Amino acid sequence: MHELGIVIQIVKQMENYMDEHDIKRIDKLVLGVGELSGVVPKYLRDVYPIAVEESKLQNTKLELEITPGIGKCQACGFTYNLVQNDNICPKCGSNEFSIITGKEFMIQRIHAE
Ligand SMILES: [Zn+2]
Repeated sequence: MHELGIVIQIVKQMENYMDEHDIKRIDKLVLGVGELSGVVPKYLRDVYPIAVEESKLQNTKLELEITPGIGKCQACGFTYNLVQNDNICPKCGSNEFSIITGKEFMIQRIHAE
C-alpha cells in the first residue's frame, strides 16, 4: 500500500504552501483521483488520519473527486469508459486505445480561511 507515502508527501507540500502564504488553517483539501491513477480512494481515506496526525492539516477534511478513466479507441475513434468496458471498445471490440482522462492524481483545490 503506497497510499500512505503519497499522502505524507501531499501533507508536506501543503504545509510548505501554508508557510509560504501565511495560511493558518485549511478547512478542506480536495484531491483529484483518476480511476486509472493506481491510487485507491478507500486506502487514501484510511491512511489520511495517520498522515495528518501532528501536522498542520490535523483538522483538515479530506474530499476526493474521482475522475473517470476515459479512453479513445484507436481503431474507430469512439470514446468510452475503460473501467466499465474492461478496456475493450464497446463499438468495434478493439483493445487499442489512448487514455484521455483518469491517470491524474493531484491537489484539486483547498478551502482555507
Ligand atoms: Zn472502437
